[in-house]
Amino acid sequence: MNRKVALETLAAQAGGQMDRETGAIVSPIHVATTFVRDPDQPSPRGLRYARPDSPTTREGETVLAALEGGTAGLLFSSGMAAATTAFLALERPAHVVAPEVMYWGLRKWLEDDAPALGIETTLVDARRLDAIKTAVRPGKTRLVWIETPANPLWTITDIAGAADIAHGAGARLGVDSTVATPVLTRPLSLGADIVMHSATKYLNGHSDVLAGGLVLAHDDAYAERVSATRSGLGSILGPFEAALLIRGMRTLPLRVRHQSASALALAEQLMKVPEVLEVLYPGLPGAPGRDIAERQMVGGFSGMLSIRVKGGRDHAIRTAGAVQIWKRATSLGGVESLIEHRASIEGQKSPCPADLLRLSVGLESVDDLLDDLLQALRSGI
Ligand SMILES: *Cc1c(COP(=O)(O)O)cnc(C)c1O
Repeated sequence: MNRKVALETLAAQAGGQMDRETGAIVSPIHVATTFVRDPDQPSPRGLRYARPDSPTTREGETVLAALEGGTAGLLFSSGMAAATTAFLALERPAHVVAPEVMYWGLRKWLEDDAPALGIETTLVDARRLDAIKTAVRPGKTRLVWIETPANPLWTITDIAGAADIAHGAGARLGVDSTVATPVLTRPLSLGADIVMHSATKYLNGHSDVLAGGLVLAHDDAYAERVSATRSGLGSILGPFEAALLIRGMRTLPLRVRHQSASALALAEQLMKVPEVLEVLYPGLPGAPGRDIAERQMVGGFSGMLSIRVKGGRDHAIRTAGAVQIWKRATSLGGVESLIEHRASIEGQKSPCPADLLRLSVGLESVDDLLDDLLQALRSGI
């Protein structure tokens, strides 16, 4: 499909892919793990074995790369597999800069496991470009990693500004864009070199696939190492999951816009609720980073927000315990709304306040979601 078409068109038609053989409007799932070779040429379609590359997975990668406007997309068995591969493919020794507020599982891996692999991390307050600038070591920093909006405080980092700093130091910029999705932000168009997704979240959107993605801006030696690392680790996404993910991505723009509008409406209402101490949502007037968010997020501020409740940790846990429509569960970006006491998950090193509840807004009626939250906040006092 012509890449100039709008994102909705690309998504709805899965990039125009269908089965040429039968005319089937949806591609078949290719389950084969190996591919027949020509007598003289090794592999006519570049396919040899399903660990390096596989046709249905490749189809999903084409859709994701088109949505992000990248040269190559790669799908992984989870978001963590995708993110860690972006780090493992760096030249060593590698110094990297990463945010203090970020997906806790990746921060934990950077702190606990990456040093022994020759990857040294400096954590910074990524809301401030001057903090990133101070942390980079020209010629030594290989990667500046950011997440925006960042879990679970929804802090905003200026992508274009971070890209300039990274490039000035000879490093790449990688963006965990799981929460923004290509519907709201396209980091590669703002200068990023790598976009990462936990496709488990919005891209799939139905809480029934574990998957991750990387989209790369350049077809270079790093892209080759990323691909080789995935093959070496054997962390490619399987064909059944890829087919479900392709189906999920068809409705991505519709879901994300609706969820963003609902999250904004909820955030505005929750500001007025006496039991709520603070609402964390970059779309609120006067929210920190709101001007940057407005520049780099188009059509919404995402379906994720957090609230801090009066009465501390116990009231937060009691509130989460009293919801009926919201579901108490980790994860985000699905069609059903989820609530989570995040500090219980993240442990002591986390910057997450003890009175914080993270809300992933789904596709239910905003009135139902608000009523349920209000009764839970009040019954929890
Ligand atoms: C969930 C998540 C991840 C990790 O992805 P998995 O698919 O669970 O491995 C990384 N970054 C963000 C922002 C996430 O929400």
